Amino acid sequence: EKLFSGFSKTRDNLAVIDELFLYWNLAETDRVLDELEEVLLVSDFGPKISIKIVESLRSDILAGKLKSGSEIKDALKKCVLDLLTAKAKKTELQLGFRKPAVIMIVGVNGGGKTTSLGKLAYRLKNEEVKVLMAAGDTFRAAASDQLEIWAERTDSEIVVGEGEKVKASSVLSQAVKRGKEEGFDVVLCDTSGRLHTNYSLMEELIACKKAVAKVISGAPNEILLVLDGTTGLNMLPQAREFNEVVGITGLILTKLDGSARGGCVVSVVDELGIPVKFVGIGEGVNDLQPFDAEAFVNAIFS
Ligand code: GDP
Repeated sequence: EKLFSGFSKTRDNLAVIDELFLYWNLAETDRVLDELEEVLLVSDFGPKISIKIVESLRSDILAGKLKSGSEIKDALKKCVLDLLTAKAKKTELQLGFRKPAVIMIVGVNGGGKTTSLGKLAYRLKNEEVKVLMAAGDTFRAAASDQLEIWAERTDSEIVVGEGEKVKASSVLSQAVKRGKEEGFDVVLCDTSGRLHTNYSLMEELIACKKAVAKVISGAPNEILLVLDGTTGLNMLPQAREFNEVVGITGLILTKLDGSARGGCVVSVVDELGIPVKFVGIGEGVNDLQPFDAEAFVNAIFS
């Protein structure tokens, strides 16, 4: 239900599809499919996916498998669902059995990293999970303050680095050690997000990952990349770079409530083969929703 309202702008954008299919007849197939492709492109499904979908529908129509507008629409929905589920199955958080589980949250500044971390803490707290936050964004001075507000709001414990030049990796290491000693279930690690073109940021993320690995003798359970949904397909190069350098296990797409470009969800999953685990659809504590491919498809196609 939340997902449905969160995607209202994308749904409005795609609503013309219904009209297209309502008056569909075989003779008009080319025109209708051209228009469908246009609509998909405008919603940021991206050229590759849009063409894939349209061509798959065209061949089914020409083979006589789809005989009415409503059948074509159902096939369209199924096509999108298949694209989402083919490449990235595990949309649920993988926390494993080792305590504490470590979740690193990465992404460029302004994408919604700190906010998503706070909302995630809120979700986990509601599931009786004992959460410790690590203020690893030591580059942006206000980031720790912002995270402390989220810690208060969600009644979570937090580890903040002492001193001016404290390294992110040492904050994370300290937090994970404390998590281990004090029996926390999950350590949620914020990281810094200066521009991704900044070489030293990637170095820092690698150092953070290593620092965590040293304490838990293994990789973080999840490294979640936060991407600003309003940037649509422009998020792709950024996502690729983060993935190459640190290895992303899941995506959080934010601000989809303010975006008509929700089709980028499909494109990003197809391009990267990484599951979307959560979507941000507002600024409130409850506005981070687990991603469900079927609910998503029903939310964007009215
Ligand atoms: P960070 O720099 O990546 O840590 O980004 P912040 O967490 O500070 O978020 C930047 C801005 O985006 C803040 O004003 C957030 O309230 C806002 N924001 C984050 N997620 C969402 C979302 O899902 N929907 C909306 N509408 N705003 C969001």
